[in-house]
Amino acid sequence: MRDGESKHLTCDVVVVGAGLSGLRAALAVDPAYRVRVISKVYPVRSHSVAAQGGINAALDPEDRWEDHAFDTIKGSDYLADQDAAELMCEDAPRVVYEMEHWGTLFSRRPDGRIAQRSFGGQGYPRACYAADKTGRALYQSLFEQSIKHRVEVHQEFFVLELVVEDGRAAGVIALDIATGSIVAIDAGAVIFGTGGAGMMYARTTNPYINTGDGMAIALRAGVPLKDMEFVQFHPTTLPGMNVLITEGARGEGAYLVNREGERFMERYAPKLMEVAPRDIVSRAIETEIDEGRGFDGGYVHLDLRHLGETLIRQRLSEIYDFAITYKGVNPVHDPVPVQPGQHYMMGGIATDKYGRTILPGFYAAGECAAVSVHGANRLGANSLLDTLVFGRLAGVEASRHVAQNGPAHITDQRLQQTQETLDQIFSRTGSEHYGTIRRELRETMTRMAGTFRTGARLQEAQARLQDLHHRYGQASLMDRGRLFNYDLLAFLETGFLLDLADTVVEGAIRREESRGAHARVDFPTRRDEEFLCHFLFSKTPDGELKMAREPVIITHYKPKARTY
Ligand SMILES: Cc1cc2nc3c(=O)[nH]c(=O)nc-3n(C[C@H](O)[C@H](O)[C@H](O)COP(=O)(O)OP(=O)(O)OC[C@H]3O[C@@H](n4cnc5c(N)ncnc54)[C@H](O)[C@@H]3O)c2cc1C
Repeated sequence: MRDGESKHLTCDVVVVGAGLSGLRAALAVDPAYRVRVISKVYPVRSHSVAAQGGINAALDPEDRWEDHAFDTIKGSDYLADQDAAELMCEDAPRVVYEMEHWGTLFSRRPDGRIAQRSFGGQGYPRACYAADKTGRALYQSLFEQSIKHRVEVHQEFFVLELVVEDGRAAGVIALDIATGSIVAIDAGAVIFGTGGAGMMYARTTNPYINTGDGMAIALRAGVPLKDMEFVQFHPTTLPGMNVLITEGARGEGAYLVNREGERFMERYAPKLMEVAPRDIVSRAIETEIDEGRGFDGGYVHLDLRHLGETLIRQRLSEIYDFAITYKGVNPVHDPVPVQPGQHYMMGGIATDKYGRTILPGFYAAGECAAVSVHGANRLGANSLLDTLVFGRLAGVEASRHVAQNGPAHITDQRLQQTQETLDQIFSRTGSEHYGTIRRELRETMTRMAGTFRTGARLQEAQARLQDLHHRYGQASLMDRGRLFNYDLLAFLETGFLLDLADTVVEGAIRREESRGAHARVDFPTRRDEEFLCHFLFSKTPDGELKMAREPVIITHYKPKARTY
């Protein structure tokens, strides 16, 4: 190790991720302990801030949290662990009022109560919202709380590895992006709130930073990932950049219309129509396009015109701007072109309902975790809720672990190994740049592991992934500088995405049924006898992927046919 290139930062709990789940976890850690939050970007660039449509909670006296739990479980195509879904839905009203007391400016009803709107697959309008900027409103309040409680945030620190010493988590190793030096963050407990992995797909609503780092880092450290084959495609994104048009638009009453002017959802979900769950609406749109009833360029129309200018500009102001800015379409006067795009990873680091993983001292919450409350298909407005409910619990559990087990320490030898791995990457001379590999990965996943899947195409995807791994092993960097080397970061992120893509495709091959977002054309029905279970993926020390099954926890809701 060269002088001045490495150092240790110590704390009791290190939280990786400054999105809603990470900040909520940090705020829940016992104040007696020192917490450090690590983020690869400036905190407000975390994807949570981009959330648009809402956060679910059964607030009304006529609504019940048990109904919210039922809708969540049915929406999950019965793959959610029901005890976890119940915990989340019961806690939801508390979470919304806590955020309100911390200053979140929710939209209101005329009588002053928090406004709520319909969202897909919900039997009651229970999505609380702040216009169509709900994530920003929630985040602002949490960010203020984190300043008030002097939460230490290290921004532009890129976590590379989770360190395991003596069978427990001992902290993380990170790259200080500004200087290029390696830092050990010693901690008695580690919490990951590292978000999703949408960049695995060519069409995604996710930003460039959503590369699944935390999930891949956990997998490499021997912690299993769960439900990875379940990837959510959001029905309504703007063709081109795939900027999200919130489900809140359909919740407010917008129609989906094909080239023949039909409200085609009648054929797919006659009762719920446009507010059926996302997996069903995305497949309906893809089917319309595949059967020639879409528009040239592969899209259908979202028609908001009948909602009127006032509603559109007040409650859907952000998407009003997005449609004009990115498509030159004014939703007050013209229908908006939309197509499905990757949106959310139901799968992630396998945790129980308290955020615990199989590795003592290691916790995960938010999109990077699979508790699993979303099962095979997440309902809209349940993810923001998930980040706040399980982020808090992870913080509480991590504090308990530190109280019982004390601090932990990363050895200099371990740090040295990471330095050598990085030096090896810098010294590569191969002619291929990771950029082409990443592009091919994203195209492969979109074409072969997207909305509709078949065994043959998934096998082909797997063969391509093997080739991409091989080429990645030889690819080199264009920028060999140490300061602010974003070429290096994107190279590492591509490696994370490749590892995760393996689990998505392997799970999709093995799951010979259609359930939620996983639609196998060659196995079109749900097969509970064989597949009412989670798939867990882990890596052996020599890098081989292993799969195990875990039963789904059923409490009150027997699996039934899922019709809407
Ligand atoms: C456009 C859009 C709209 C959405 N709208 C809604 C909605 O209305 N309602 C709803 O319920 N859900 C919505 N979702 C989903 C929801 O917003 C996300 O699932 C949720 O906010 C994720 O929060 P998180 O805390 O898990 O992660 P994020 O907010 O994504 O934060 C991840 C954090 O991890 C850090 N990180 C990652 N890797 C590293 C690394 N290697 N080193 C250091 N730091 C790292 C990042 O810097 C970041 O701070 C939406 C999603 C999108 C994309």
